[in-house]
Amino acid sequence: MSGIDGLPPLREVIATHQLSAKKSLGQNFLLDLNLTAKIARAAGDLTGMDVLEVGPGPGGLTRGLLAEGARRVLAVEKDARCLPALDEIARHYEGRLEVINGDALQVDPLEKLTPPIAICANLPYNVGTELLVRWLTPTDWPPFWSTLTLMFQREVAERIVAQPGSKAYGRLALLAQWRCEARIVISLPPSAFTPPPKVSSAVVHLKALPEPRYPADAKTLERVVATAFNQRRKMLRAALKGLAPDIEEKLLAAGIEPTERAEQVSLEQFCALARILKG
Ligand code: SAM
Repeated sequence: MSGIDGLPPLREVIATHQLSAKKSLGQNFLLDLNLTAKIARAAGDLTGMDVLEVGPGPGGLTRGLLAEGARRVLAVEKDARCLPALDEIARHYEGRLEVINGDALQVDPLEKLTPPIAICANLPYNVGTELLVRWLTPTDWPPFWSTLTLMFQREVAERIVAQPGSKAYGRLALLAQWRCEARIVISLPPSAFTPPPKVSSAVVHLKALPEPRYPADAKTLERVVATAFNQRRKMLRAALKGLAPDIEEKLLAAGIEPTERAEQVSLEQFCALARILKG
């Protein structure tokens, strides 16, 4: 029995249910329940919150979230082999865990959850960035969630919190920092996972701001940023020339030197340019 909840240790759960890790599903499991409880705590106070978890696998983080007091957890898992293990957790925490066997990209969590909602996950690497971008780019703000606490490959985590002038700075940093506070809260070596991945990982905590830091139309800002960083080594007047015939004037009006490169431009300047382009 394990200390946090009296359920069997995760190694035993994996052996009982024969959950050999599948690479195609990005399966690198966390088997240390002290660590999964720590990740759950990094999500903040979960009392009175519904939690969306993507990819619970054998349920280590799910157990952390429930033990840390989440009101309800909705866990979306693609691999049906994990369902019996998750069912044992659901029975232990009666009425607090619902599991959907499906693809997180296809599920609408709002059909099942009530705000305030936290999202917390050790994400499968193959769909992690796509889910993050989706959660960061709704047209209306604030979004349905209050916080995201997500495990990524270290390199992706660094792109989310990157500052101008750094190599990691780009679309992810701008989308994340425009409407959220973003920071790396836990760093993990490959050995924290079973099986160990090739690279290190990090947990990023994003808190939705009540309003964006600077006004801008979301779709225009996304287009400007995507276009600018698509050709990040070009001068902006060349990289963005398809966006407006008089792009040089518009860049100057936004306080941006047309000969600069995208990685030198601040979030505030990108927002100013998006407002000017929107008209
Ligand atoms: N949360 C568990 C842990 O921390 O040990 C497992 C994390 S593992 C990195 C990713 C999990 O996501 C796997 O259980 C995998 O089957 C699941 N998964 C992969 N693609 C998925 C998808 N599109 N929708 C839902 N779950 C997915």
